[in-house]
Amino acid sequence: MINLGERLAARRAAGRQRFRRLVESPAGPLQKIDGREILAFCSNDYLGLANHPEVAASLREATHRYGSGSGSAHLINGHTHAHHALEEALAEFTGRPRALLFSTGYMANLGTVGALLGRGDCLIEDRLNHASLIDAGTLSGAKRLRYAHADVEAATRQLARASGETLLVTDGVFSMDGDIAPLPALARAARAHDAWLMVDDAHGIGVLGPGGRGSLAHFGLGLNDAPVLMGTLGKAIGTAGAFVAGDEDLIEYLIGAARTYLFTTAMPAAIAEATRTALSLASREDWRREHLQALIARLRNGAEALGLALMPSQTPIQPLLIGDSAQALAAADALWEHGVLVPAIRPPTVAEGQARLRITLSAAHESAHVDRLLEALAATQAVLAAQTPA
Ligand code: PMP
Repeated sequence: MINLGERLAARRAAGRQRFRRLVESPAGPLQKIDGREILAFCSNDYLGLANHPEVAASLREATHRYGSGSGSAHLINGHTHAHHALEEALAEFTGRPRALLFSTGYMANLGTVGALLGRGDCLIEDRLNHASLIDAGTLSGAKRLRYAHADVEAATRQLARASGETLLVTDGVFSMDGDIAPLPALARAARAHDAWLMVDDAHGIGVLGPGGRGSLAHFGLGLNDAPVLMGTLGKAIGTAGAFVAGDEDLIEYLIGAARTYLFTTAMPAAIAEATRTALSLASREDWRREHLQALIARLRNGAEALGLALMPSQTPIQPLLIGDSAQALAAADALWEHGVLVPAIRPPTVAEGQARLRITLSAAHESAHVDRLLEALAATQAVLAAQTPA
């Protein structure tokens, strides 16, 4: 018999059990959470589109037209004009011939890797890749070879060892560190070894590159460098879902072979319409990215003045490494007491001894919000000083 009581007790004793906060307000910097007014620095709504009036209006209008649910999978009768138009917009946005919608980024990764690789093939992964890519490798049955974080030489050694069809997959922007993968060198290494590069750009889409076209565009890379691009829609784009963009054959193949595409309900058409509106705002409103960069600089300069070493990152993910899990929690609690929500990220999300405060910024933040965060960090510095490894 499965003894859940025992398992839960063990998880609680090890500090691994999680709890959820109850949110009573829309997405945005100022929220009511657990009955308390709080300034939040934890969402992935990097462009501030998750509560945009035009996006919400599209959602309402499309709900009148299509109803609330799609009712079936894309291959039955779930694929509406709204889904199709969004796929075309995503193809244009990414500069690729075609794009395919998935219901979540997790599913896009499982389905894509599983369709491209099987037993006898090889999946090469950065050690810090997102959990969905790790699970994708396990499910695919391919041999998994990992390399040290962002280490192109180590990746190249794994490429040399690989056999069968080989896919090198990396996050574009690492979700818990905020750094950008060395994509030009990885693309060169993959090509030299006849392997494909797949980039999971969940945190780069909307944020990096001209028009927010993502981390590949940030480096001037395209389809020939990374034939498979996965992006999510629930972060900077502010809605929900994900897509894979690539050439005609990749998308046609995934339509028939990606199990998480075939065997799941299409996202509601209204979400697709809202996403098309959000994507258009994301690509044309450069001021959101410019404001975000100004906030990042303000935070980094302010933290430096306080003697707090944020991890090296040019993206809206600005983590402060603490190390010990209990100390990271204590620091997050101290910030909460100062009216600021920054989550403590602990194992298994990050490696043992690598617990951190994951600060994320959004274009919806104002400079004054960053100043309040810095004040709260200063006020909790006594706690933090005891936590931060020398
Ligand atoms: N990849 C990365 C790098 C992510 O950070 C996430 C979300 N945390 C996902 C994939 C999964 O995306 P979704 O939330 O749409 O399932």
